[in-house]
Amino acid sequence: MAKKNSNKNHCSFCGRPDSDVNLLIAGVTGHICDLCVEQAHGIVNDSVKNTGKSLPGFSLNKLPKPIEIKSFVDKYVIGQEDAKRYLSVAVYNHYKRLLQKDTKDDVEIEKSNIIMVGSTGTGKTLLARTIAKMLHVPLTIVDATVLTEAGYVGEDIESILTRLLQVADYDVATAERGIVFIDEIDKIARKSDNPSITRDVSGEGVQQGLLKLLEGSVINVPPQGGRKHPEQRMIAVDTKNILFICGGAFDGIEKKIAQRLNTRVVGYSASQNTAHIDRENLIQYITPLDLKSFGLIPEIIGRLPVLTYLNPLDKDALLRILTEPKNSIIKQYVKLFEMDKINLSFDKDVYEYIVDKAMEFKLGARGLRSIVEAIMMDSMFSMPSEKIKELHITRDFAMSKLQKSNIEKLRVA
Ligand code: ADP
Repeated sequence: MAKKNSNKNHCSFCGRPDSDVNLLIAGVTGHICDLCVEQAHGIVNDSVKNTGKSLPGFSLNKLPKPIEIKSFVDKYVIGQEDAKRYLSVAVYNHYKRLLQKDTKDDVEIEKSNIIMVGSTGTGKTLLARTIAKMLHVPLTIVDATVLTEAGYVGEDIESILTRLLQVADYDVATAERGIVFIDEIDKIARKSDNPSITRDVSGEGVQQGLLKLLEGSVINVPPQGGRKHPEQRMIAVDTKNILFICGGAFDGIEKKIAQRLNTRVVGYSASQNTAHIDRENLIQYITPLDLKSFGLIPEIIGRLPVLTYLNPLDKDALLRILTEPKNSIIKQYVKLFEMDKINLSFDKDVYEYIVDKAMEFKLGARGLRSIVEAIMMDSMFSMPSEKIKELHITRDFAMSKLQKSNIEKLRVA
């Protein structure tokens, strides 16, 4: 086994004696010093990058196909068929692009960064997380609202890459093929559709800053995050192969979509063309033009070529979310009780009751968990110390527990 050696030994690579180095590690037949270890690490990294072997485990036959990606995601995410299809294809193409290095022709496949539009709590983050889980690549989730232009209070754009590096254990090659999910991208929209004359600290400036990340360039990243300062050692990260997925609720964008749909179809054929439009769910007609009207700059929109949407969750979807996914909330509670050898079961109408409450409180999928937690709290507190090994939840039981709890405070006015 390798160990530090303090006798008069030399590094078998550079010949330095142990007195000239910080650390000399003994192998079976020789030694290596800390400097050579670092240098070797750099050589390995470079050669891995140059030979395209930076994708261990990725080869076209091993790469899951879009249909496989989607069916994996289906196990965790309910509904959102369009978003799943777009994402599966975009991710597949992204990784095909990474594998394309060896081809002789000049056809260069462009990056397929993604933007997902949909109300909060409809599954945007869950989709990104699930895909990262399947591909075994590092994923970091950042909130666009904390980002500011360099020099202003807030986080530098580079901090996004610091986090990705941290998730990848500072393995640059791994981070360089990771996924960055930028949430709340709509919050950095500029306030009007007109380019601003004065600087817009929170909006346009940040969008400009994000551009260089999205389009792919080598960025010097402070390894520990925080503000850059001159003495700090930087790590160069190439964002060329990082997949960026942006998400946002874009509250009120339906109005822009409606305006566009109406203004485009005027005159005689108007009623004919608009007749088939589903006015209850306009988000499905979203186009890059609407993102521009909302205040994303055209350059950013251009760097996010895959645009998809998530449907609002109706009662049916919430019911399915409660029970169907592989790690659904109900399954999680059954498991928790099972660990205490308690058999937990529910009457079917309890599920409906929980969903009705989530809808009433306008909490969407995010509220399901708080409601179930409130119903189960007393039992989770006392049952592990009791002898009873059976717990069946009826609607009356659920109602009484919920009334007793302070869940009402979660109600959104
Ligand atoms: P968003 O990013 O769109 O605001 P999230 O993905 O964070 O929403 O969703 C919040 C929670 O709601 C998730 O952790 C998940 O439990 C649940 N959820 C939301 N949408 C779905 C869905 N379509 N399928 C399964 N669970 C969902």
